[in-house]
Amino acid sequence: MNANPPSVEAIHLQPVGEGIALELVDELAAPLARLFRVSCHVVPSPIDVRFALDAIRGQYYSTAILQMLTNSAAEDASASRILGVTALDLYVPVLTFVFGEAQLQGRCALVSLHRLREEFYGLPANAGLLMERTVKEAVHELGHTFGLRHCADWRCVMASTHAVERLDLKSSAFCAACRRAAGLSE
Ligand SMILES: [Zn+2]
Ligand SMILES: [Zn+2]
Repeated sequence: MNANPPSVEAIHLQPVGEGIALELVDELAAPLARLFRVSCHVVPSPIDVRFALDAIRGQYYSTAILQMLTNSAAEDASASRILGVTALDLYVPVLTFVFGEAQLQGRCALVSLHRLREEFYGLPANAGLLMERTVKEAVHELGHTFGLRHCADWRCVMASTHAVERLDLKSSAFCAACRRAAGLSE
């Protein structure tokens, strides 16, 4: 065991479950690297999360997947953050669905594309919009791992959003207060 903190500051993008396009995860790496000023590395093989399926809901239990990511993070000292990216529909017991989930001040976060796709709402596919929404959701969940809670500024990426309409209104950037609180330099 190595007692030293990880020397490499990096975000590992971990595809989660079936049906996640690797090109899409690849595309997500560049904006995240720019925003957090760390290198982003895409893990090439998706992890199997069938254990997290609730057959009645037809959805996957987000917290259980996050726990699995945490366990693998313990063995991966080369990443300071691990972001799971999935095409599966996620839930936590008290909510109908979640766009994502993260550990406050932890190392792991998870985002789902399922409800970010226009097709989910019966609209034509829009790859540009999907990527925009995915970046916002990823930055938001990673923001929680930097200790940030929800922000009252609706333009800030840390604003709480439970509908894509609200997601489309906010930006992919932290407001000045959140940026300071997360210790992210200008
Ligand atoms: Zn949040
Ligand atoms: Zn903010």
